[in-house]
Amino acid sequence: MAVDSSRRTQHFKARTRVVVAGRDPAAQHGFVNMPAFRGSTVVYPTMDDLTHRRGRFSYGTRGTPTTEALESAWSDIAGAAGTVLVPSGLAACALALMSCLKAGDHLLVTDSVYRPTRNFCNSVLARFGVETTYYDPLIGSGIADLMKPNTKVVFTEAPGSQTFEVQDIPALSEAARARGAALIMDNTWATPFFFPPHERGVDIAVEAGTKYLGGHSDLLLGLVSANEQYWRRVRDTFDAMAMCVGPEDVYLALRGLRTMRLRLDEQERAGIEMARFLETCPEVKKVLHPALPSFEGHAIWKRDFLGASGLFSVVLHPVPQMAVAAMLDGLELFAMGYSWGGFESLIVPFDCKDYRTATKFDPGGPCLRLQIGLEDTEDLKADLEKGFARMKAAKAA
Ligand SMILES: *Cc1c(COP(=O)(O)O)cnc(C)c1O
Repeated sequence: MAVDSSRRTQHFKARTRVVVAGRDPAAQHGFVNMPAFRGSTVVYPTMDDLTHRRGRFSYGTRGTPTTEALESAWSDIAGAAGTVLVPSGLAACALALMSCLKAGDHLLVTDSVYRPTRNFCNSVLARFGVETTYYDPLIGSGIADLMKPNTKVVFTEAPGSQTFEVQDIPALSEAARARGAALIMDNTWATPFFFPPHERGVDIAVEAGTKYLGGHSDLLLGLVSANEQYWRRVRDTFDAMAMCVGPEDVYLALRGLRTMRLRLDEQERAGIEMARFLETCPEVKKVLHPALPSFEGHAIWKRDFLGASGLFSVVLHPVPQMAVAAMLDGLELFAMGYSWGGFESLIVPFDCKDYRTATKFDPGGPCLRLQIGLEDTEDLKADLEKGFARMKAAKAA
């Protein structure tokens, strides 16, 4: 019942590919969706087959028709040689790094990286003898000056977590390739729909499927895709650790995939509308959204990205902490909580001042990160306007 991974769908347009990729009703007794296969043991008909591990699947940790369906669909969409699935986005970052590094190696990581990735580098990788240097996300081709003879990986994330610095990925790729280092990118924000990673020179791309692929805040999943050059070592590292995902989560992710493009298009539209609205609010000092012409990284975003997802930040004019709390505590639609990519709008305050090391973070006011969900934008605007009114009243009191 396996989906033939050689059945590629590259000749279709992107919107068609998310519907057909990783799915073969003729091989699924006519049912539209690939079922959730559960299993550890795979049995063999003869001793000879067992001895030679003959057959498409050999053991549950190494893949099932269900995991293979999502892997092949994702490779198709990301333009990758192969993909593996792991239990979370953070596990995907860890697997990508472990696939390329050994004791004595040096690693360059963007200062705007997702904070738990920074923690993984500073704790586990440091313990295993890998040295990490953080770089300014706006460094571009200047990254070459930070490369040492033992630099094996440049780890990038664009736009930056929380602050949305847009990086020059083709320039980073060129510098990394010239020195034989791998370029790994956390592509969770744009997804392969809005940034085709391997086409732009990324060797290994990481996606937190927890976000837009799941799309409903009800699952945790990570995907690691690689180009021809790096695929084998990603697959081998995965097999060596068996960091595999349970069948229900893979099933839900396949289900999420079918509407992912549609949701992203809507969240892009609504996100830009909300970002423009916030630019007109007197309480807002600056909107950090790559699709706004006023944003510093806009030109590079426009050159390299095909769209924007629904996550961005704002910097407020200085107000006391308790005034920010008065705004956030009473919101009706925007909930406060981590993660994003679901159907519901979220808001979180943040401050990167205390942990960035290569750059100084000084936005000049409190910062908020917003995830725009699928609610009506008029309701969302009204929710924020009422919040600003509470902020103003609290400040005056
Ligand atoms: C959320 C996130 C992750 C981690 O995903 P989890 O599934 O929550 O572990 C990694 N990178 C980025 C950019 C994220 O936003």
